[in-house]
Amino acid sequence: MDENCIFCRIVEGGLPADRVYENQHVLAFRDIHPVAPVHILVIPRQHLIGPSFLDEDAAFLMAEMFLAVKEIALKEGIDGTGYRLVMNQGVDGGQEIHHMHLHILGGRRLRWPPG
Ligand code: 5GP
Ligand code: ZN
Repeated sequence: MDENCIFCRIVEGGLPADRVYENQHVLAFRDIHPVAPVHILVIPRQHLIGPSFLDEDAAFLMAEMFLAVKEIALKEGIDGTGYRLVMNQGVDGGQEIHHMHLHILGGRRLRWPPG
């Protein structure tokens, strides 16, 4: 728990969020500024900054996040039409919140490559 971290505060329940999925390791909620009809963030409950800060002990959380994605995609009805997963790391990646998260983007055709 990092008291200055918005996502830790969402995990703790101190900040509201539109939660769509949770289990003992991960939590998923709708992005406050969606850029697609479905825009959900999947985060580990544990405060981790991003993939560059991952260690062996926390590596299983990556698998937990992807297993959650599969469940959420089914629940949101985008497993058939598809979706994009994005994880931003650092300044050039455009990371604004320094608590690791996967963006699930779906519900419309996305362009490639991203800008
Ligand atoms: P990043 O740029 O770090 O990959 O993405 C951070 C994302 O978190 C952005 O898409 C932003 O809209 C979202 N976000 C920032 N603050 C909040 C918040 O308080 N609640 C929710 N639900 N999403 C947030
Ligand atoms: Zn955090």
